[in-house]
Amino acid sequence: MLTLDQALVEILRQAEPLPPQQINLAQSLGRVLRQDLTTDRPLPPFDRVTMDGFAVRSADFALSSPSLKIIGELAAGVEAKFQLQPGQAIRIMTGAVAPPGADAVIQVEKTQVQGDQVSFSVGKIDPGLNIAQKGEDALAGHCFLKSGPFITPALQAFAASIGKGRLWASPDLRLAVLSTGDELVSPEQTPLAWQIRDANGPALQGMAEDLNLQPKFLGICPDKAEALKAKISEGLQGDVLLLSGGVSMGEYDLVPKILKQLGVKEVFHRVWIKPGKPIWYGRGPAGTHVVGLPGNPVSAQTGFKLFVEPLILSLLGHQDPLPTYLKLPLLQGVKKKTEREALIPAKIITKAGQSGAEEVKISGSGDFSNLILSDGLLRLPAEATRAEEGDLVPFLAWRRR
Ligand code: AMP
Ligand code: MG
Repeated sequence: MLTLDQALVEILRQAEPLPPQQINLAQSLGRVLRQDLTTDRPLPPFDRVTMDGFAVRSADFALSSPSLKIIGELAAGVEAKFQLQPGQAIRIMTGAVAPPGADAVIQVEKTQVQGDQVSFSVGKIDPGLNIAQKGEDALAGHCFLKSGPFITPALQAFAASIGKGRLWASPDLRLAVLSTGDELVSPEQTPLAWQIRDANGPALQGMAEDLNLQPKFLGICPDKAEALKAKISEGLQGDVLLLSGGVSMGEYDLVPKILKQLGVKEVFHRVWIKPGKPIWYGRGPAGTHVVGLPGNPVSAQTGFKLFVEPLILSLLGHQDPLPTYLKLPLLQGVKKKTEREALIPAKIITKAGQSGAEEVKISGSGDFSNLILSDGLLRLPAEATRAEEGDLVPFLAWRRR
């Protein structure tokens, strides 16, 4: 049976990034940037004034604070036509070009105007005062950002300022979610005494939405071969199909068998972890990545976090598809009750001035209401039997940001 790390290697080996797509900058938020961003001009593109006030020559202030003649006015968005001579000042606005000859700006609050003369309540001043130098942020032709990060508002601002009205970005990833199980009803239905409301459908869709995808819900499917075939065939038209339930060893766990009948090639079935051991992964005839997650909601969500998120990030072309673990001190010892590698829900707290992780107790992967209280998962190696208070333990946050 594969270990967690081995299974992850297998998935990433399969998950070639999907071809990028050109997207309007305004619609690009949350996609993965799939091109390098290189400046087309220096940033700032000219010596830019950062305060409303008066443009002056710092040399005029070498001996004493002068009174200078106002020779004109410069606003943002106009060409700097003036050449500043000794003894002169120009009324100037934030965002304007610093005119030739001027090497400093004194903010308006520190000036007094009388007629066409301006005097200043400042002593000596340094050249460059309140002027952002051309190119101080970035030079022209500088590759500022490589392909691979999520597009954030700050990235959109930068892309706009280097003239990228359209961006190469990750395409729409077609992901479908299917809940399987004879016992399942949808949350708005009234369950009979022996029925269970579908919790995985909403959870798995939510986790996909957290990665900026728009998942398609295929609904609830009973453990019946014909119904499963129809639903799974529908899901095999997309890039990723997530199933939950029906992958264990029971009589009614039909999912692996049906997948094989539909031409989905198994890459692995079962990983040496707890919870989530029965997880199934394979590729459909058209390349669809199919993940069969165990039905227990804790297992399903853990399986998504461990395997589906890296799969999705890799398909999107993200620079960092592998999970990022923090090393956090345990604020309380943890007992490990399995010989498999363990993923234990935990929350981050501060106790007596010390921040760290503390286990959120759940009685089994079927008891999941306490999962709400957790911020992520602690990861303990297969051979461990416990971890002590103060130990630094890898912690994987449920949410990336
Ligand atoms: P299975 O993986 O199909 O053997 O299911 C394992 C356990 O998870 C059973 O107790 C199921 O009732 C439960 N389960 C399966 N699917 C869901 C679901 N979508 N929502 C909530 N519980 C589920
Ligand atoms: Mg089942």
